Amino acid sequence: DDPINDVEQQVRDWAKEKKKEIDTLKEQEKFRREFLSNISHEFKTPLFAIQGYVDALQDGMMQDDPEMATQFLMKASRNLDRLTFLIKDLDEISKLESGQVPINYQKFDLSPLIKEVLESMEDKAAGHQITLVFKEKYQYPMMVRADREKMRQVFVNLISNSIKYGKPKGHTDIKIYELFETVLVEVTDDGIGIEEKNLPRVFERFYRTDRSRSRKIGGSGLGLSIVKHIIEAHEQTINVRSTEGVGSTFAFTLEKANG
Ligand code: ADP
Repeated sequence: DDPINDVEQQVRDWAKEKKKEIDTLKEQEKFRREFLSNISHEFKTPLFAIQGYVDALQDGMMQDDPEMATQFLMKASRNLDRLTFLIKDLDEISKLESGQVPINYQKFDLSPLIKEVLESMEDKAAGHQITLVFKEKYQYPMMVRADREKMRQVFVNLISNSIKYGKPKGHTDIKIYELFETVLVEVTDDGIGIEEKNLPRVFERFYRTDRSRSRKIGGSGLGLSIVKHIIEAHEQTINVRSTEGVGSTFAFTLEKANG
């Protein structure tokens, strides 16, 4: 044994360890920077719009063109709604992340919940020429143990994405499968799909692909992270498969309830 060699090895190991720590910190810092830039972008868009409408109204539009003024007020109000939704989503995320939201477990039949959500979203889907289909294949109740209201939110977020990122005359199919002690749920669309390089990031807070930003599709980039939080709070998993230009499938599991 050479004590000098030993010490050298220890120093090298230590340096390697430190480098790893620094890389992790840099990675986190980059994430924080992106997060801040994303969040300010999401707030800026509606704020600037409101500013524009209010300026125009102050400049005398009320008197000059009352009809246009009414329209501007409506548009300002829609942008205020968007800010309100953003803050609500943010609030929801921070509560979910700090574990402040208890999961209120109930046993219930999944199919009626799916039908309720589909019915409530039918008009929105029709507006985008998208057909929502529940491919029911079991004759008996599909009992799960989960928080019914939170699961409603999961379905609303996934289906609303399938509409937003769908193509006209497209379909969204909802399927459920029994798999041992779990129920597997799949929401499949034949919409614009997600580029492979973006797939791992879609569940991040405020992450939106360049395409959805550029297509000016409304959204906060929070919907999927809320979904993921809810599923993980149930100790279940969610994943996504997608092919750009072909469509996407979001699949998650739920605990099957006996009886
Ligand atoms: P938002 O829809 O508000 O942008 P989400 O968190 O729900 O935020 O989704 C994050 C991003 O993932 C979206 O901006 C979009 O680019 C992509 N995405 C989500 N769902 C789909 C889908 N069904 N088809 C294609 N892209 C999707």
